[in-house]
Amino acid sequence: MRTIEHWIGGSTTSAGSTRTAPVWDPATGEQQAQVLLAEPSDVDTAVAAASKAFESWGDVSLSRRTRVMFRMRELLERHEGELARIVASEHGKVVADARGEIIRGREVVEYACGISSALKGGYSDQVSTDVDAYTFRQPLGVCAGITPFNFPVMVPLWMHPLAIACGNTFVLKPSERDPSASLFVAQLYADAGLPDGVFNVVNGDKAAVDTVLDHPGIAAVSFVGSTPIARYVHDRAAASGKRVQALGGAKNHAVVLPDADLDYAADHLTAAAFGSAGQRCMAISVAVAVGAAGDALVPLLAEKARAVRVGPGQDPGSEMGPLVTPQAKARVTEAVASGDAQGAVVVVDGRDLEVAGHPGGFFVGPSLLDRVTDRMDVYREEVFGPVLVVVRVDSLDEALRLINANPYGNGTAIFTSDGESARRFQRQVRVGMIGINVPIPVPMAHFSFGGWKDSLFGDTHVHGPEGVVFYTQGKVVTSRWPHVQRPVEAAFNFPTAH
Ligand code: NAD
Repeated sequence: MRTIEHWIGGSTTSAGSTRTAPVWDPATGEQQAQVLLAEPSDVDTAVAAASKAFESWGDVSLSRRTRVMFRMRELLERHEGELARIVASEHGKVVADARGEIIRGREVVEYACGISSALKGGYSDQVSTDVDAYTFRQPLGVCAGITPFNFPVMVPLWMHPLAIACGNTFVLKPSERDPSASLFVAQLYADAGLPDGVFNVVNGDKAAVDTVLDHPGIAAVSFVGSTPIARYVHDRAAASGKRVQALGGAKNHAVVLPDADLDYAADHLTAAAFGSAGQRCMAISVAVAVGAAGDALVPLLAEKARAVRVGPGQDPGSEMGPLVTPQAKARVTEAVASGDAQGAVVVVDGRDLEVAGHPGGFFVGPSLLDRVTDRMDVYREEVFGPVLVVVRVDSLDEALRLINANPYGNGTAIFTSDGESARRFQRQVRVGMIGINVPIPVPMAHFSFGGWKDSLFGDTHVHGPEGVVFYTQGKVVTSRWPHVQRPVEAAFNFPTAH
């Protein structure tokens, strides 16, 4: 059985770990490897390596840091296919989809290549007589990332390229369900010339996470995962004095107005609901059909859901792969059953899908549930699987009330041909990322990514300008070089400009 280790101080190591967790091949249902689960002392070792590396990396010039990022960007492009196959084999998503997440993550490295501009300070000449003032930002020290299974490359890339380009060192605790991609990325950093200890990977479970959250040697924690854990991570890390951003779960609604191009909307909703088997934090899981849109939309969605090609992620013919674990499969089938029991109309039922040649795989087909209400569990819970529910409402105002009352606020979309409705929606909806005729509005890397309400705890969103703010702290210098002809007298009253 292959054992997946940690990456500390520039090489793989088992450190002091003996506990393990299984890593599945979701397409076959068989265990393909085991991953080591770190003990608190292993986290200490990683933080010690990162602290040591920070002593020099924090002083490395912006141009040298930029050159590492340029090389990293090239390596991520060169090894895209290999990395995508690693992701597909442990996560289950199709290889083309895995390539997509690598490309979107690489865009953060591209943004980090411009760190000299992003970190540029400000200078004001002569703010008072013979006095100048200027600002600059400095790294925090050792930063940590704790990441979910669903984007094993992209979500960590939201964090570490910027943290490192800003002069910090990094300890990543990836998901224990698909850990191999992070070790591959660590090797790429080494090949890009990043000094040992700047980027470290500690595999593990709650024991590793809790040690990170309490660790006095860690200055900041970025977390992405489910809402209960995000809230816990935020509160515990903040209580130990850390800067923290914790992104949580989602229930993303797409409003379809009767004036929308319904065929276009149905195509895009189908891809956004069932791509990656619905295991995306920006997946559309609720279609809000307004007025006459409902009767026309549901048959189109049903036809397209039935046509989705479900199969192993490594098969180029597949559009949707299996779920990540047997527990995820059970959760999704139970969600469909509860919708059925609570009065929803199950239009397409993916529960009994069988994929030829893969009887043990964690496959569930696309499911479409109509006439769902906000009191049903299948609406209230984050299902995180290939289940699209349709809630019918009478007006855009009712759609807005529904979305704004939902505790999640990650992403949302509106399909319409009416600019006034779209503008009203974008201004009144209480959600962080909004698509207008775009179902998955994941911001480009030079913007920042983040939700509202229970989808994000903390102040700053990830990557882009807010990422730079998160991974640095500002200084303001007020400076006077006394002028021989204009001596300055000390004053006991509070200093004012003159
Ligand atoms: P998860 O919350 O189970 O795990 C996330 C991380 O937390 C993992 O590294 C895991 O090891 C750790 N963890 C799990 N349980 C823990 C505990 N009790 N104590 C301490 N640490 C713990 O999430 P997941 O199942 O890996 O990922 C799916 C979830 O992530 C979904 O809810 C999805 O919406 C969310 N997600 C959100 C975003 C976003 O940008 N908001 C992006 C991707 C995924």
